[in-house]
Amino acid sequence: MRFKDLKQQYQLLKADMDKAILDAVASGAYIMGPQVKDLEKELAAYVGTRHCISCASGTDALTLALKAWGVGKGDAVFVPDFTFFSTAEAVSLEGATPVFVDVDSATFNIDPADLEKKIRQTLRRGELAPKVIIAVDLFGLPADYPAIRKIAGQYGLLILEDGAQGFGGAINGKRSCSFGDISTTSFFPGKPLGCYGDGGACFTDNDEWAALMDSYRMHGKGSSKYDNVRIGMNSRLDTIQAAILQVKLSAFDGELAAINNVAAEYTARLADIVETPVVPDGYLSSWAQYTVRLDGRAERDGLQAYLEEQGIPSMVYYPTPMHCQTAYRNQSIPEADCPVTCQLCDIVLSLPIHPYISLGEIDRVCNAIKNFV
Ligand SMILES: *Cc1c(COP(=O)(O)O)cnc(C)c1O
Repeated sequence: MRFKDLKQQYQLLKADMDKAILDAVASGAYIMGPQVKDLEKELAAYVGTRHCISCASGTDALTLALKAWGVGKGDAVFVPDFTFFSTAEAVSLEGATPVFVDVDSATFNIDPADLEKKIRQTLRRGELAPKVIIAVDLFGLPADYPAIRKIAGQYGLLILEDGAQGFGGAINGKRSCSFGDISTTSFFPGKPLGCYGDGGACFTDNDEWAALMDSYRMHGKGSSKYDNVRIGMNSRLDTIQAAILQVKLSAFDGELAAINNVAAEYTARLADIVETPVVPDGYLSSWAQYTVRLDGRAERDGLQAYLEEQGIPSMVYYPTPMHCQTAYRNQSIPEADCPVTCQLCDIVLSLPIHPYISLGEIDRVCNAIKNFV
């Protein structure tokens, strides 16, 4: 059994995929070929924003957004404590300070009440200027943007949606990667929309920020590539990856429906046995992960070992709160108190999920969990 099955997806898309890749290779336009612009138009139309600026990774996408806003030394950026390292790494790389915020134990996403608490704390201390809230759509579920937007308005902060795991999700029909003032995603192979290498994108309705991100991704270009008006990056999406993503995007809605069926089958079988993922009313998840909660560290670790014995892969996303990562220990960042995150890191377990998993495989996973628990 596979945790994700990208090989099976390739076999299903093989005819279109092989043609798209070979066309890109034959064209000779390996950097910023026409597929890149076409894909950006398709992605912007899909999520419902004016602009899509593709780039080399989801991490770079976060960096480009922070650069466009001029975020740097002395600025506080509010980041969930329960996320992948990149979310905070991009902040630190720009010289700004991540302020870690606890998450909601049911949705795994940034807790609006703790967010407001951390903003007030930061203002009271007076050492850092609050600038940006990064909300992560963890495991495919959009964060609580109605509540986050209210807080952002109240304190004059910008929202950066880290939709690296969120592409395809929605709240009342409005799609993920359209909730931030700038939103970002990742095309790392295992993400909901993945390519065959690294890639990422930024989304915004703001013309000025879009132009800035377009400049920053190409060495701070001005009127041409050899007119450099600011210090930028080399962060472009390869033509070949854009061509791959065009094929994947055409199959995406079918996969999104299929993976939601898989999640529903899991929940129907597991809801009485473990804590299953919560999807609030009106929300749609793209199920980057299907993550259950166990009773404690011993039960979680025991179950993972038992599943491994049965040949069933599982993963712990994430074992360590951000504020406990070695890179963030001993730094003069404000003391983080995120008890929910600390608990989640001990009790979460992500199960195999992808659009092509069979009912038989789902039964095998669920029966093994029943046997153990
Ligand atoms: C994967 C991921 C990123 C980084 O994306 P890359 O394309 O790997 O750089 C950022 N944030 C979150 C939440 C992620 O899961």
